Amino acid sequence: MIEGGYTLKVLRVDLTRRKAKVQPVSERFAVWFVGGRGWGAKILYDEVESGVDAFSPENKIVVASGPLSGLIVPCSGKTSFSTISPATGLYGDSNVGGEFSCALKRSGFDALIIEGSAEKPVILAVDDGNVMLKDASHIWGMPSLDAEKAVKDELGKDFHTAVIGPAGENLVKFAAVNCDFGRQAARCGVGAVMGSKKLKAIAVRGSKAIPAANPDRLKETYKETVAWMIKHPAFDLWKRQGTMQSIDWANELSCLPTRNFQEAQYEEFKKINGDTMESLTRLHNKGCYLCPIRCGQVNQVEGTVVEGPEYETAVMLGSNCALPSIEDVVYANYLCDQLGLDTISTGNTVAFAMECYEKGYLDREDTGGIKLKFGSSEALNETIKKIAYREGIGSLLAEGVEKASQAVGHGSERFAMHVKGLEVSGYDVRGAPAMGLSYATSDIGAHHNRAWAITYDIKTDRKSYGEDKVKWVIYLQHIRPLFDCLGVCRFPWVELGLNADYYAEFYTYATGVKASLEELLKGSERVWNLTRLINLKRGLKAEDDWLPPRVFEDGIPSGPLKGLTLSREKFRWMVEKYYELRGWSENGVPTEAKLGELGLLDSPSLSS
Ligand code: SF4
Repeated sequence: MIEGGYTLKVLRVDLTRRKAKVQPVSERFAVWFVGGRGWGAKILYDEVESGVDAFSPENKIVVASGPLSGLIVPCSGKTSFSTISPATGLYGDSNVGGEFSCALKRSGFDALIIEGSAEKPVILAVDDGNVMLKDASHIWGMPSLDAEKAVKDELGKDFHTAVIGPAGENLVKFAAVNCDFGRQAARCGVGAVMGSKKLKAIAVRGSKAIPAANPDRLKETYKETVAWMIKHPAFDLWKRQGTMQSIDWANELSCLPTRNFQEAQYEEFKKINGDTMESLTRLHNKGCYLCPIRCGQVNQVEGTVVEGPEYETAVMLGSNCALPSIEDVVYANYLCDQLGLDTISTGNTVAFAMECYEKGYLDREDTGGIKLKFGSSEALNETIKKIAYREGIGSLLAEGVEKASQAVGHGSERFAMHVKGLEVSGYDVRGAPAMGLSYATSDIGAHHNRAWAITYDIKTDRKSYGEDKVKWVIYLQHIRPLFDCLGVCRFPWVELGLNADYYAEFYTYATGVKASLEELLKGSERVWNLTRLINLKRGLKAEDDWLPPRVFEDGIPSGPLKGLTLSREKFRWMVEKYYELRGWSENGVPTEAKLGELGLLDSPSLSS
């Protein structure tokens, strides 16, 4: 029996009918799908028909905490936003830090299920269990960070908020949701789905205690794990630079995307790295709920203050657009946050357009007068604004790099860097077959968080395509999303080496349900197969588990891996081995036996 961790209640809000109802959650459902993205996936699987478009009122957004969110567990402020993605037309989710999920649970709910579409812009406010839909006409059009402040001014500073900016309102396919001033659920276009529902903001406040089955053991384990983290030799650097420390590492190892993934090293990397940030723009660090690491870096440039950049942002807006200035990267980061754009997809898509411009596939007439050259911060910033407001070329790029390349033509699809319609994030995979497999087989499209396998490529052999790599990718695809299900950050485990078994202890002390790490990983595998089923129903084919032509055709132009590409033949073998090891058919369909083993042939729904 569940004794804590979960509230076992969700709030279902119908924006069309302006109605809300509280729905109980069955214990079997709660445990079977763990929480966070696991709950989101199952609710979407059960409730959204395969023909429903991402922008249809029939699409839903599940905003979910996990069983550890808000409890005495390090870094327990993560929230998952799950929906049908407008970028891919498939299952999508995005995970964000801060404290939103904690407030949601203190308000009495594990999750929000948002359905329908409002007639006019609204704010959904949940105040200790009381639900209000408030007019948002006065903040519609307002940039994200300003809108967040306006919502807090109106409702109360202690509300935690999730807001969209103009990009979400204008249905940019890679629009983000901004949480707690500077954290984003940015991937998969969840902000655009909020925009399609005319939902400008969600604000949550709560004062209820979150029950735990064994609070004493939870507290002891919290102290033990934090003490361990603080002693780690990399702890201080994590506080000072966060993930920005990885830029030098990625450059040295030839996996730093540069000029739209043409190059894998950036000659000006020192001008955008963690050390330069520390000396020129950094103000202080910032953390999510109960995080001792506090990896967020708050920066300032000419009076403009923003949380960020982190590695992905600095790489995609920096080296990938060849911007040789940390100040320019910080400002572009600020623009994306204010306008409500995913920095990864934005940097990827603008870099694609820059390459098209330099190759003569786009000219100044197409760009509205912008000299869209690599290295130009003015061009980058102007294009970012055009994307957010869908002006001129911005309207084309707002569809994402896949659609943009189809419209530009000239064979530019060859260097449109996406998987399944989601733009590739900050790693060049030509010398990293495992990381390539991770991108190719990711359920949401190319996103590093699903399986950050590049460290395994580096540790073993950059040119090997062995079964060990396939197994490692599958393992990572279970353990990394498990953190999203639990509602905690993965960094203590992945970056500071905290033993993952602690999370089974936390789960047991939180919920009273005794679970081993293996059992929790089984839950995560269940979710991975479930998102596969959603995607197959929505038309996904085996050939979609693939990478952009550039990684097979264009050798790395310089450096220690000069000339290296991925081999199509060997990579095909990896994908086939991946299906086999997953218990899927040769077409990438989970077999009856696998679904039976995972309990997915007759699995519980939300209240049963
Ligand atoms: S390590 Fe960074 S992302 Fe993770 S909880 Fe801490 S501040 Fe948030």
